[in-house]
Amino acid sequence: MVTQAILFDMDGTLYKSQAIRTKFAEAAYYTLAKEKSISLDSARQSIEQKRDSMKVHYGQSVPYTLTLQSLGIPIAVWHEYNIDYFDPGEYLKSDPLLEKSLKILKAHFTLAVITNNNHIQTQRTLKAIGVNGFFDSVFTYNSYHILKPDPAFFMRAAEDLKVAINACCCVGDRYDIDLKPAKAIGMSVLEVQGPEDIYDLPHRFLQGDQTV
Ligand SMILES: [Mg+2]
Repeated sequence: MVTQAILFDMDGTLYKSQAIRTKFAEAAYYTLAKEKSISLDSARQSIEQKRDSMKVHYGQSVPYTLTLQSLGIPIAVWHEYNIDYFDPGEYLKSDPLLEKSLKILKAHFTLAVITNNNHIQTQRTLKAIGVNGFFDSVFTYNSYHILKPDPAFFMRAAEDLKVAINACCCVGDRYDIDLKPAKAIGMSVLEVQGPEDIYDLPHRFLQGDQTV
């Protein structure tokens, strides 16, 4: 099936920022510390120990959202702390090369974002990197209250985009979270290391080399 829609993961895919990774981790430690009335240091230790034990299921680099959920923090609570803790816009700048690439892709494909992040942080991020106008749809945790790697998230997104599952291609930086479940339901997938791998996507997609 020819690709009709490209679904991009956001964090680590459309931008890469060590400062935001650090803020994200700090926000997670702060949330657990506040919610469980423990020290920041104990919170950091329990979160990182939990992440290590979850690697078996989720591969390397287990998302903080899934880690906090497994430690009993409701996702809505985590998102409230996260939104208050930092504004990604303060650490990001516009990416003209990404913009250029998405502009070309948009002329040929339906483009969407599919992220476990919340709506507010997602909008702040897309605006800061200068690409918020390029997506037909932006699916966040707030869309269906489902998180990747649940395949239901990908299915619902395809349904809302009105594009057949096998005409969707998912692009992401974490295979086990962003791509493995998409592949399992019949989407094509493309693993990237960051935005620099997206600069070349028009060339790859428009040459017909669409899957990995
Ligand atoms: Mg990612």
